[in-house]
Amino acid sequence: MTDCIFCKIIAGEIPSYTVYEDDVVKAFLDISQGTPGHTLVVPKKHVPDLFAYDEDLAAAVFARLPKIARAIKKSNPAIKGMNVVNNNGKVAYQSVFHSHIHLIPRYSDDDDFK
Ligand code: ADP
Repeated sequence: MTDCIFCKIIAGEIPSYTVYEDDVVKAFLDISQGTPGHTLVVPKKHVPDLFAYDEDLAAAVFARLPKIARAIKKSNPAIKGMNVVNNNGKVAYQSVFHSHIHLIPRYSDDDDFK
């Protein structure tokens, strides 16, 4: 999709900090870090939201989450947990309409992050 910011990131036309990449997904740091290490996991195929996935793509994308989450956790011993967030639709606070899963590391001293 030509005017999609995440398609441009996947194509390398807009810079990003890559955390993980394979043929199905690209994972990169969120430009606005909820907590340090906040990462977005994005299917390389343009899918607007959860409602548009077919089963095979959903299985492939969501199956990769534990591996990516483990890698993020391993990168920083201060990470004690992680929120997994996926917003779908404007009313659910989705602002970029290329599906993405937020992996938000949690620290024992980050109580001010809600
Ligand atoms: P929300 O903005 O409410 O978090 P989304 O769930 O749609 O809604 O999340 C979109 C995310 O994409 C935001 O966290 C935002 O900071 C992030 N983002 C937007 N532009 C970029 C970019 N160029 N690089 C990395 N992350 C981006």
